[in-house]
Amino acid sequence: MSDEAERKMQFLFALRSRGVTDRAVLTAMEKIDRAAFIRHYFTDRAYEDTPLPIACGQTISQPSVVGLMTQALQVTSRDKVLEIGTGSGYQAAILSSLARRVYTIDRHRRLVTEAREVFERLGFVNITALIADGSRGLPDQAPFDRIVVTAAAEDPPGPLLAQLKIGGIMVLPVGQSDAVQSLIRVTRTEDGFDYDELRPVRFVPLVEGLGNEP
Ligand code: SAH
Repeated sequence: MSDEAERKMQFLFALRSRGVTDRAVLTAMEKIDRAAFIRHYFTDRAYEDTPLPIACGQTISQPSVVGLMTQALQVTSRDKVLEIGTGSGYQAAILSSLARRVYTIDRHRRLVTEAREVFERLGFVNITALIADGSRGLPDQAPFDRIVVTAAAEDPPGPLLAQLKIGGIMVLPVGQSDAVQSLIRVTRTEDGFDYDELRPVRFVPLVEGLGNEP
């Protein structure tokens, strides 16, 4: 077996052993090359189950966490999905192979520009990446079937709850940035919201306003 095939097999094994069991999610993660979303010397480590640094002081999430969040979101091919926190674009790419349409937002211009280049190069045509403060959601395209937030807020942001369809699901980390955060799943029902706590996680904080780089 080639080194590449061996690394990929170990990658999938690590995902499964950490609870990513959904077949469609595993297939998407097998198909989409994480190294394409990581620049420079960290590309060698793309298939390790570890978060890695990206530009603007942010991180590409740990693959098993991407898998668990995607699985908890129960995406179908009819869904319009909103992601807050484009970062490298990896999570958006995984979502795009499961959903009808993905909107992804980041507050850093550079991250959005670089992610768009990767989406174009790899042919992910159903993703729209936008520079904006994601804590306000994307009112123009609301409501959404699914929303995923990949940065931690103290509580689920009100505008995001308001932009979730009835029957829709949102997955997000909540808690203070330097403390233990919980990954939660919020389901919108006819008369309110149901909350499930999934597991402890650690994400960079959701910061209001745009990044201040040129
Ligand atoms: N999903 C990413 C990882 C994201 S890291 C991936 O697959 O690589 C979290 C991202 O959230 C960072 O890029 C950060 O810039 C972004 N972020 C933080 N606060 C934000 C906000 N208010 N609006 C939009 N993006 C935000």
